Amino acid sequence: MNSYRYDGAEIDSVELKALLVSRGLKVDKDVYRLFSETHRLGVDPRECNCIILSDGTIVQLTDMGFHLKYLSGILSWNNLKLLRYASKLATPFSLRVSDGKPALFYNNNYIDTISLPPPTDFYRRRTALGTRFVGNSVLQGLDWVSFQCLWPCEYAAGGRPCQFCFSGGDFETLAKKGKPLPPALDAADVGEITGYAVRELGVSGVQLTGGSTMDGKSEARHIREYLAALEGLRGEADWRGEPQGKAAATSRPPNGEPQGKAAATSRLPNGEPHDKAAAISRLPNGELQGKAAATSRLPNGEPPRTALNEILLYITPPNDRGLIDEYFALGATRVACSLELWDTELAKTVTSGKVAFTTRERHLDILAYIAEKHGPSKAFSNFIIGIEPFESLSRGAAHLAERGILPTASVWMPMGRPVLGSMTPPGVDYYRRTKELFAELYTKHRLTPPETRGLNVCIESDILRYASGG
Ligand code: SF4
Repeated sequence: MNSYRYDGAEIDSVELKALLVSRGLKVDKDVYRLFSETHRLGVDPRECNCIILSDGTIVQLTDMGFHLKYLSGILSWNNLKLLRYASKLATPFSLRVSDGKPALFYNNNYIDTISLPPPTDFYRRRTALGTRFVGNSVLQGLDWVSFQCLWPCEYAAGGRPCQFCFSGGDFETLAKKGKPLPPALDAADVGEITGYAVRELGVSGVQLTGGSTMDGKSEARHIREYLAALEGLRGEADWRGEPQGKAAATSRPPNGEPQGKAAATSRLPNGEPHDKAAAISRLPNGELQGKAAATSRLPNGEPPRTALNEILLYITPPNDRGLIDEYFALGATRVACSLELWDTELAKTVTSGKVAFTTRERHLDILAYIAEKHGPSKAFSNFIIGIEPFESLSRGAAHLAERGILPTASVWMPMGRPVLGSMTPPGVDYYRRTKELFAELYTKHRLTPPETRGLNVCIESDILRYASGG
């Protein structure tokens, strides 16, 4: 893991990542001019660009120049209110071209030469149903595809969005204007988008996220369909018909049987195979269609991996524990019921819908149930890093970890929406203490976040690497 100089102190890549995610960067026009054709670097903020530090750490790239233009371009009352905070959003970080390469600067001081992911047409594609990939899904780092809001948030529509949540703010605005909320994304779209990301881009993890619902039951119908649509991607043989190398060797369904067998025998209750995703990308003779069939290497030169090793489900803790068991049986590898904050008084204001409707008790009850029944690290709860005092974050993370529940860490991005009237992120010391705390908890309680090359905004996998001396 790299170390850097920052404000006269030494910081490592996890701390630098947290600083960059929370403050954003200013990206020089030359960076887009030179690299947007040859790398995955788009000007549309919905594409969630990322950069890769020279030690491989993945970091969200929020171009603050674009972000402020985006806010001022949409003349809504909400955005005008956000612009009041614009002066607080000045970032000391920038991305410029140096010696023909993209490089990171702090004020005018060089920090690191970074790289960018290989180019892809992912964001220009539509599914067979005509749904755009962009706006519904994002690639994160090199091995994740994420669906940020698969179904609407009933809490936000009811006037109780979480203060930090951009999607929640949008749902609240729509509801206030009396406009209909968007429908949930079709399962066939989820299967097709994920299938493309897995087969063409070597993605091995997917995050399925939706809004919060009143009893967790109305979302169950969607979740069942999504998991069914992904089933054919778990451990599927690659286009050569050979079992997967690393993926086949390491990934197993909850019953412990090799996934090839699981995929081969998976059936809907009516006895038909429910391999929607695989069906979409196969010709009637069973061969993969188009580019997938012709591709023998991923853009990064590695052989294709056509298996999902991680299916992360972010849900409302349901009243009915049976739903949890069903989700695992359908292929979820981990289930999150995120508390976001531990401090109860702050949570009442910042996450008022969660506190009022789902309650802290139900979150903790379901998380403990998952950990007891399905094992350590199978339940996880996200914390938004940087909103609450470190002391309460520390108590909350320890409380969960002692019960086999994985606390995960998503860096607060204040440029989204102000929280408690502030858009000021904490200093590097807060991030360092968080990193040390989570590393200690992971080690002491043998908790393991997904071993991936990293997500854009979440730092748990980076902390795991730090904890293992990597
Ligand atoms: S519950 Fe909060 S974090 Fe979840 S979608 Fe609704 S507003 Fe966003």
